[in-house]
Amino acid sequence: MKIYNTLTKKIEELIPYEEGVIRMYTCGPTVYNYAHIGNLRTYIFEDILEKSLNYLGYDVRRVMNITDVGHLTSDADTGDDKMVKGAIREGKTIQELAKFYTDAFFEDFRKLNIKKPAVVEPASHHIDTYIKMITKLINDGYAYEANGNVYFDITKAKDYYQLSGKNPDDLKVGVRDTVEEDLNKRNPYDFALWFTKSKFQDQEMKWDSPWGVGYPGWHIECSGISGKFLGEHLDIHCGGVDNIFPHHTNEIAQSEAYFGHKWCSYWMHGEHLNDKSGKMSKSKGEFLTLSLLEEKGYDPLSYRYFVLNSHYRNQLIFSYEALEGAEKAYKKLKARIKKLDRTPNLHDKKLDYYQDKFKEAINNDLNTSSMITLVYDVLKDDELSDFTKLYLIDDFDKVLSLSLIDEEKAVDELFEKKILEKIEERNEAKRNKDYARADQIRDELLEQGVKLIDNRDKTTFELL
Ligand code: AMP
Ligand code: ZN
Repeated sequence: MKIYNTLTKKIEELIPYEEGVIRMYTCGPTVYNYAHIGNLRTYIFEDILEKSLNYLGYDVRRVMNITDVGHLTSDADTGDDKMVKGAIREGKTIQELAKFYTDAFFEDFRKLNIKKPAVVEPASHHIDTYIKMITKLINDGYAYEANGNVYFDITKAKDYYQLSGKNPDDLKVGVRDTVEEDLNKRNPYDFALWFTKSKFQDQEMKWDSPWGVGYPGWHIECSGISGKFLGEHLDIHCGGVDNIFPHHTNEIAQSEAYFGHKWCSYWMHGEHLNDKSGKMSKSKGEFLTLSLLEEKGYDPLSYRYFVLNSHYRNQLIFSYEALEGAEKAYKKLKARIKKLDRTPNLHDKKLDYYQDKFKEAINNDLNTSSMITLVYDVLKDDELSDFTKLYLIDDFDKVLSLSLIDEEKAVDELFEKKILEKIEERNEAKRNKDYARADQIRDELLEQGVKLIDNRDKTTFELL
């Protein structure tokens, strides 16, 4: 599979650390509010990535965090704590707030057919892991205590600017412009690993540590959870492009300092969904949630279809007209599929051809619009039986997850039924001593990827 790696700025062949296994980490939401549909675009991209890797046969081990502590309103170390601010706004405790918005987040996942990652871990459950990491970083000279807080010294990191491609001089200008420069830092872009002396003395979420009672910085959460569940060698780390700097840059700095070697091979970033006035955000203009789209009468899967028609590395502009167009096309597509005749018919030599084409679309840096085009190509192909069309669309939908076939299981069941009929036909031929016909049926099935196994009393089959 070929993917674009933000780290090298090149399309590269994906070579996992362990053959056949992909260790994948995706940054989760900060649960102080609903996700907006821009956030959800990033999660749809990550879902397609995971399912594509599965389609290619990889064993994907995916981990995601839930940020319930430490994320300030600026991605650097300034501003208010997003969770504290949210809790005050809603008159809830931090725990209540986190539970409410975590549940809402996964409800959006369910509506969008996004698979929940195998491991989902709240940041606040792993304080001991961060303390262990920070202690080692201090002992090894990468981090320092200053006025009660612990900071990572970015001048000690190898190639700190590699991922973002930023120029340190440009950054200095940016820092000067921010209102709250933290004077405890040795370098303006050093980042907090642990806060004890913060301005949030009334912070509900705090823990004892060697540096005093406090709470972890946002970046250490992802390094800690990823290392704990996926080990020292990560294959793919994902997020939206806004995570490249400072969040992912800082994750690399601290994880590589901690492990003492290169940590993650491939960094993949989804471009933003914008509205006409620019980047979508939770505080600006109409707060576009999936529930709002539903209230306006849209099917959540029309939004998924809309997203999949563009490449994840291109910016996408949201408008109701564009969503309307996507909804019409999606509903029409489903109606066409519904009309297909479901009578089992296995006469197809083109299964491989289309499945290879689908893999090609995956291999081409996750080209989702080509994947959708292939669904239309299959529908148009007169050489395919309706049943094969259904079989292929069902197969592609394992990745696309657009619920293209309402009763997904039906196709597999029909496929099995058809094979059993063929076995019976072959038994009949054998009983009639028509061995040529029996062999022909066996060979035809083999060509379609079905291998017959003759046992003493019964013939069984295996899918190749
Ligand atoms: P947050 O909950 O703010 O931590 O963001 C969750 C995810 O959404 C992160 O991976 C962000 O990079 C991503 N994200 C934020 N804004 C957008 C946007 N407008 N379009 C796409 N992804 C976004
Ligand atoms: Zn993260």
